[in-house]
Amino acid sequence: MHCPFCGAHDTKVIDSRLVAEGDQVRRRRECLACQERFTTFETAELVLPRVIKQDGRRQPFDEDKLRAGFQRALEKRPVSVEQIEAAIGHIKHRLRATGEREVKAMTVGEMVMRELKQLDEVAYIRFASVYRRFQDLNQFREEIERLSRREQDDSDA
Ligand SMILES: [Zn+2]
Repeated sequence: MHCPFCGAHDTKVIDSRLVAEGDQVRRRRECLACQERFTTFETAELVLPRVIKQDGRRQPFDEDKLRAGFQRALEKRPVSVEQIEAAIGHIKHRLRATGEREVKAMTVGEMVMRELKQLDEVAYIRFASVYRRFQDLNQFREEIERLSRREQDDSDA
């Protein structure tokens, strides 16, 4: 690693710690020539699989699109940005863990639903009704009924 200040070859690591929930290593380095200090980040190069769309086209995994989907579903819901970022992190982790080079868009959609279900049930229904298009209308109705039953139980308690 060349020193970004003077270009010298010799730098030493003076501190090393895990960041981003252990996905990154942050290293503090010092140049042996000019003594300037700088920071490097190391991330394992685990490429996310490409996404196979319904029509068969392949697209690179798009984190911004995923984030936009979460934000749309969670509009005006009591869920923080940190919670959304954590959910996106879970999905990326799970996608990498598949070890697949390509995954179906549907698989990603199911992962989003799983996360939303835990974050906010209203957002989950919102997303699911659009995304899955609840092929079976009864399934949608059952889901709504299940939720309203639960809300009733909560208010009774
Ligand atoms: Zn230097």
